[in-house]
Amino acid sequence: MKLYGRICHDLNNLTTETVKVSKPGVSKVHEKYICNQCGNTDQTLFFNYYCHHCNATTTYCRYCINLGKVQSCKAIYIIESERQKSLCKYRLNFELSEQQRHASDKIKQAVLNSEHLLLHAVTGAGKTEMIFEGISVARQNGDNVAVVSPRVDVVKEVYLRLAEAFKDEQIDLMYEGNFGQYNSTFVVATVHQLMRYDSHFDVVIVDEVDAFPLDMDNQLMHTIHKASTLHASHIYLTATPNQQLQAKFTDSQIIKLPARYHGHSLPLPEFQFNAIKETKLNQKLLKLLKKQIEDKRKTFVFFHDISYMKKVFNMYEHYFSKIEYVSSVDSERHEKVSLLRNDEIDIMFTTTILERGVTLEYLDVVIMHTEKFTSSAIIQIAGRVGRKLSCPTGKVVCYHEGITKNMLHAKNEISKMDSLARKKGWIT
Ligand SMILES: [Zn+2]
Ligand SMILES: [Zn+2]
Repeated sequence: MKLYGRICHDLNNLTTETVKVSKPGVSKVHEKYICNQCGNTDQTLFFNYYCHHCNATTTYCRYCINLGKVQSCKAIYIIESERQKSLCKYRLNFELSEQQRHASDKIKQAVLNSEHLLLHAVTGAGKTEMIFEGISVARQNGDNVAVVSPRVDVVKEVYLRLAEAFKDEQIDLMYEGNFGQYNSTFVVATVHQLMRYDSHFDVVIVDEVDAFPLDMDNQLMHTIHKASTLHASHIYLTATPNQQLQAKFTDSQIIKLPARYHGHSLPLPEFQFNAIKETKLNQKLLKLLKKQIEDKRKTFVFFHDISYMKKVFNMYEHYFSKIEYVSSVDSERHEKVSLLRNDEIDIMFTTTILERGVTLEYLDVVIMHTEKFTSSAIIQIAGRVGRKLSCPTGKVVCYHEGITKNMLHAKNEISKMDSLARKKGWIT
């Protein structure tokens, strides 16, 4: 493994690579600290301690501490980047839809012309396959490619599909605790991991960019730019672009992809007034869940709050044999998601942790207190339904105690995309 384009803490890790520049881990400029690893300038994230090597006070950066501590009394080394061409053949098991071909061409052009693109693609548009051709031409030219996402579960899923398609490529998979093993020519990683690089990537593809917390948006952009070369192409993929993101692109750089890959309409949310208390069994919900079992359908029930979810769960669990709940703080969440995939759970109570990633057949969703959800969460949750070609339809039941702007916005967005897809002749 070579550390091309990386920030290195220890010269013993190098073999033939050359150091481009070395800097202290943390510098002080105009009385303000700056971290030379992650670029952080938030002064509240710098801490001092007494260093026994130099017998002096030293300053370190807490923002990037899980990439290895950097401090003012120790140097970091920026390693010279390198370009290596590869054949980069890939295999596709099916033919791209007309819309996917359109998107794939746009991405390829953006890569070849070093331009930026925002692909506003509905859930289930088949985004991953759209990037294959762009990656392939980039790698044939020797460009360094990174495919990143804020969420580690999305990263692992995308990696599996890329590894399956690009069988002969050396793909580095990187997330916290997983370091990569090749020369960083083709990296699949969490956005966070790009902090390890400096001016290295010629193409950066950011999947599910909106999954990043909005207040960290600037840090995300900064990290991507620092890891990229000056003329890099940046491709963003999302089903729910926020306005801040859209504002960074011109109209011609935003490509709308309103159709699902299988050519069926998006499921539209149904709003139903229903006040669901944590202390009283709700007959409407119970009836719906029983009917789901009868119809041999799976159900995700989405909650905005973990403790509310658990209380509601306690009332319903006695009625069903294959019912579970899951949240981001659940230590068994990975096991529970595996059970889901193995068809061992019929009803899953969940927080927004399952709004992306898991795709099941015969799935319907229920949202509890929909008035407490953002419009992008509602769009993502609705997007879980009808993803499979074998089962392209389903229900999105939104229980609420009053319709909000966010709810209307979500429904509008979905209908707008659907009519656009119809107009283009991309769905039937
Ligand atoms: Zn830092
Ligand atoms: Zn020291």
